[in-house]
Amino acid sequence: MIPFLDLNQINQPYLQAIEEATLRVLRSGWYILGKELAEFETAFAKYCDAAYCVGVANGLDAITLILKAYDFQEGSEIIVPANTYIASVLPVNYLHLVPVLVEPDHNTMLLDPARIEESITSRTKAILTVDLYGRSCEMNEIRRLANQYNLKVITDAAQAHGAVFKGQKVGSIADATAFSFYPTKNLGALGDAGAVTTGDGALAERIQYLRNYGSKERYKNDFQGVNSRLDEIQAAILRVKLPFLEADNQVRRGIAKRYLAEIKLPGLTLPPADRIDEDAWHLFVVRHPDRNSLTTHLEQCGVQTNIHYPLPIHKQRAFAHLNDLSYPITEAIHEQVVSLPLNPVLQDEAVSHIIHSVNAFEHSK
Ligand SMILES: *Cc1c(COP(=O)(O)O)cnc(C)c1O
Repeated sequence: MIPFLDLNQINQPYLQAIEEATLRVLRSGWYILGKELAEFETAFAKYCDAAYCVGVANGLDAITLILKAYDFQEGSEIIVPANTYIASVLPVNYLHLVPVLVEPDHNTMLLDPARIEESITSRTKAILTVDLYGRSCEMNEIRRLANQYNLKVITDAAQAHGAVFKGQKVGSIADATAFSFYPTKNLGALGDAGAVTTGDGALAERIQYLRNYGSKERYKNDFQGVNSRLDEIQAAILRVKLPFLEADNQVRRGIAKRYLAEIKLPGLTLPPADRIDEDAWHLFVVRHPDRNSLTTHLEQCGVQTNIHYPLPIHKQRAFAHLNDLSYPITEAIHEQVVSLPLNPVLQDEAVSHIIHSVNAFEHSK
């Protein structure tokens, strides 16, 4: 069986360096908010071409702390994509803000700039873009709207470390960008971790306070913060892996290139191929009207797939108050998507086998 993702294999090349880094932290006697985090923050800011990086406990907190730092009035509306992972939207509700779901572009499956304006009201405060599957949203259009209506642009880039939009690195485009270093992401820790990047020094400082009980100086609290710190061991591990992120993304792009050129199955929709060398290819998401038979067929061929995601946010029980809403493009996407294995340790023969297996689908019926 070709696994969808094998974390043991992903981390294999770094084992010795990770052991050394972990031992260094163990022996330092300093485990929270120390040198390792400061070094990682500097390195990740540089990688993203961002002025500031603030490490936090996870990706969900990164989004939450950005929204909290902007201090939007309760009841303010935040434009969010209807097609995303639930973690993009949970922080909005958690802070008593109102998520306004907007349908994606049919082709990219990302927030459609052409549908944003009709959802903007006098209460709208921000557009939260999600670079889902590793591809940047159409940021020129979104920035133009944000300027016109005086809105903040916040990006959930949990799936898009290293992605580029028109020459600009994700992490340096939005007013503030949230990253996750959950183990399966393009840059993954061996536990939970996340970060915010921004060019806004005041915002970065506020998040430094908020992640640590609202305090920068011991026992002096300027804000009502939370505990959301990126610990020294995870920071040390991320420092080991960051220098290889760019090469890993190049391997991902190579695999995406082969899939896009060689997968030929009538009825199957491939992801957009216009920015192969700029997208970070966290996931390779294809669509098929008979998705469930396709996944069964691939399973029989020894190919493990995944579905990102089976149920849209507005149909989740956790968002019962949205259950009656209708987002047909989003709903169709959730019924048809299937993610093929794509990761930096996937061998050429495995890629060939996956392509062959997908192309053989009609014949098997
Ligand atoms: C993984 C992910 C998150 C959440 O990150 P965590 O570190 O697990 O909290 C948020 N948004 C998207 C799009 C994600 O893929």
